[in-house]
Amino acid sequence: MPNEKQLSEVLSEFARTMVTEFPIQRILDRLVERIVEILPITGAGVTLITPGADPRYVAASDESALLYEKLQTELGEGPCLLAYNSGDAVSVADLCKETRFPAFASRALDAGLRAVFTFPLRSGADRLGALDLYRGEHGPLEEETMAAAQTLADVAAAYLLNAQARSELSEISARSHFSSLHDALTGLPNRVLLVELLEFALLRAIRSKRLPAVLFADLDQFKAVNDTYSHRVGDELLIAVAERLENLLRPSDVLGRLSGDEFVMVCEDLDHPSQVDAIAERISSALGAPFDLSCGPVDMAASVGIAFADHGESAEDLLHRADMAMYQAKAKGGGHHQIIDAHEQEASDRRTALKFDLHTAVKNRELHVHYQPIVNTTDRHIIGFEALLRWTHPTYGPISPSVLIPLAEEAGLIGAIGAWVLAQACADRRRWSDVDVAVGLGVSVNVSPYQLMEPGFVDSVKAILGDSTTGTEPALLTLEVTESVLIHDSARALLVLGDLKQLGVNLSLDDFGTGYSSLNYLDQFPADVLKIDQTFIGRLDQGRSSQAIVASIVSLSRTLGMQVVAEGVETVEQHEFLSEIDCDACQGFYFAKPMPSNEIGTLIDRPDDNGAVLLPVFAGSGPA
Ligand code: C2E
Ligand code: MG
Ligand code: MG
Repeated sequence: MPNEKQLSEVLSEFARTMVTEFPIQRILDRLVERIVEILPITGAGVTLITPGADPRYVAASDESALLYEKLQTELGEGPCLLAYNSGDAVSVADLCKETRFPAFASRALDAGLRAVFTFPLRSGADRLGALDLYRGEHGPLEEETMAAAQTLADVAAAYLLNAQARSELSEISARSHFSSLHDALTGLPNRVLLVELLEFALLRAIRSKRLPAVLFADLDQFKAVNDTYSHRVGDELLIAVAERLENLLRPSDVLGRLSGDEFVMVCEDLDHPSQVDAIAERISSALGAPFDLSCGPVDMAASVGIAFADHGESAEDLLHRADMAMYQAKAKGGGHHQIIDAHEQEASDRRTALKFDLHTAVKNRELHVHYQPIVNTTDRHIIGFEALLRWTHPTYGPISPSVLIPLAEEAGLIGAIGAWVLAQACADRRRWSDVDVAVGLGVSVNVSPYQLMEPGFVDSVKAILGDSTTGTEPALLTLEVTESVLIHDSARALLVLGDLKQLGVNLSLDDFGTGYSSLNYLDQFPADVLKIDQTFIGRLDQGRSSQAIVASIVSLSRTLGMQVVAEGVETVEQHEFLSEIDCDACQGFYFAKPMPSNEIGTLIDRPDDNGAVLLPVFAGSGPA
């Protein structure tokens, strides 16, 4: 029987392992080693048992103890399993007389074992396995010794459970660390890890003077696979693509999946830029063979964008450039690869900067409205003005509305900017109308389809018409819309246009003839004015057919009861022809270019003898 001092030493040793990060194996090795020292036995071993799995011997104090543990595991019988199943200690004082596990008894007797005492490793209702104590001579263990051994087994079990929980926890955290950095579907590095690896590659490149390249591959028509077959088949395809791309990699390359069908390859060790062409070719031939999926064979190609690292560039910027190159490749019709084009990139960078700066353009007073007179074709009297937006960017200078308006639409700013133009135009018109001759002059304001379809647009027009500084008689305001407004949701667009008509404002169908369905909707479009697009006017001198088209549009407008305005009139000949066919009004450089509000003020301050506003004459001299 161990003395109390020895027992308490072993127990306190276990207690210390509790607060340190002792691995399970060390706990068990120490248990069997110490127990042999303090109890009257020749060997000890531990077998762990998990329900549904084979028992695992995990510790033994010496070679023969190891043999007995192995025997029990191999034979699937022995005191260990008995103790585990019953939850009670098993005492075999004389193995020769043992009948419960004959196969083990006979083999163990041959190997020299005479007595065995086994204690379940239990912790509350849990059982983890058993501790076996072996003796080379028969005879029982004293009751106190049995009790001490069970105590040690119980304490060891408690610590084992604790260590197991600790290792499970660290396994879970390792797993969740892995999954936070990898794509769950393909197991490839995700965006976070890829950016990190790319940052390292860029740092290494500074030292090695090599040229890292990023190849950004996007599958062509992947959405069609998802839509036609199912997302499950789409997933199968992504996994198969990942495998084929992985097979192309050299050890130093990295492949990651950014999102959806976007894969990125980082190639660090290029000696010469031309090598990327060969890699891109390999990608395209790797994807060239049909993919054998559960729905049958599927063909798939990819567009690949390539960018080389610029000195000092961040990983995100490099990825972005490769992404842009991919779009350039897509624009070629898919299945291509494309090294980033510097000019396109510059243009795109500029667009990004402009879009960003547009947010503060109104506040910084960079936006202005210019006005272009619209004149009566016969007597050249001004009948109104078209408001045209101007942006003077502090770095890039004047930005054309054909660039600015789409940017405002993309940035979600068109509603705010459009409302600003409308208010500005109404306020300017009101100021000019202080001069008697200008009282009846109207103003036309362009409205983008996005702006028109924004909820609350009609209310915002109503508010501006009723405001004390912008207030305008509705009949003096014309809103210019193009027929593209009818493309997406024509029913709703027609409702909005109807509501605007209810307010009493005029509607003008701008750029007529360039849209896709001019005649389809013409009878439903509640327009008061039709503006013939300037491309038709520009072609008037090319011959009779262009003239016939313009003449028909004029007579069509007349039949539909609309006023007709010719846009982009630049020459005396064009003006003369438009007079001949009775086009109501003209607008163009031949009469006047768009000008700032104060110049309009000066213009209307000089009425002619009849009290109408006539433009200064430069007839015959073309644009001013
Ligand atoms: P638009 O509404 O058809 O405006 C007429 C455009 O033709 C204006 O271009 C004007 O400067 C130009 N123009 C006028 N006379 C002539 C001429 O004789 N020859 C030539 N070659 N061009 C002439 P701008 O100001 O560059 O505006 C372009 C387009 O941008 C406008 O076409 C309009 O669709 C849009 N836009 C302009 N301001 C606004 C605005 O405040 N809101 C919205 N939504 N769109 C606007
Ligand atoms: Mg217009
Ligand atoms: Mg137009």
